[in-house]
Amino acid sequence: MQEQGRVTKIADFAYSQDLQIGRESFSVIFVKSPEQLSTAFRAAGLKVTPQRQLLFRLLHGNEMHPTAETLYEVAVAKMPGISLRTVYQTLTDLAAMGELQQIQLGGAARFDPNVDDHHHSVCTTCGEVRDVYVPDAGAISVAGLDGFSVHAARIVFSGKCPQCASAADALSAVKQ
Ligand SMILES: [Zn+2]
Ligand SMILES: [Zn+2]
Repeated sequence: MQEQGRVTKIADFAYSQDLQIGRESFSVIFVKSPEQLSTAFRAAGLKVTPQRQLLFRLLHGNEMHPTAETLYEVAVAKMPGISLRTVYQTLTDLAAMGELQQIQLGGAARFDPNVDDHHHSVCTTCGEVRDVYVPDAGAISVAGLDGFSVHAARIVFSGKCPQCASAADALSAVKQ
């Protein structure tokens, strides 16, 4: 089983996550700095506004896999007047530039600043989405794909997160 490593800030601009799978350990570096995203935005001919800079900061090191709406709620608390439309446009621009992954896990699209090759676990109770890593995902044996040209494979583990599982255990212990 995979052990979730800790996330360490390795520089001003990057976060790294140390992971251990079996005997192998490796580091994943993810999330560009707000400055790097500003530079990428300008290079793409897009304006860097204070609203967008706020969103770059909120996305930096963000492991929540936010929807446009949940990111908007955080942003509007810090900068009243920012619009949901701006948040949505900025997220889709970043996704088009390859700086974010847009992921569909049922419900609204979520945005993921981790653009490394990874997969997700989803808690069906609280909705928490976590990054998981499957090193040999391309090598799994699959039946029924004959003639199908695969562009991407996304593995989603659904179930209960540790918090919800222990809450459920506690509840069933009370009932007994
Ligand atoms: Zn949960
Ligand atoms: Zn992710």
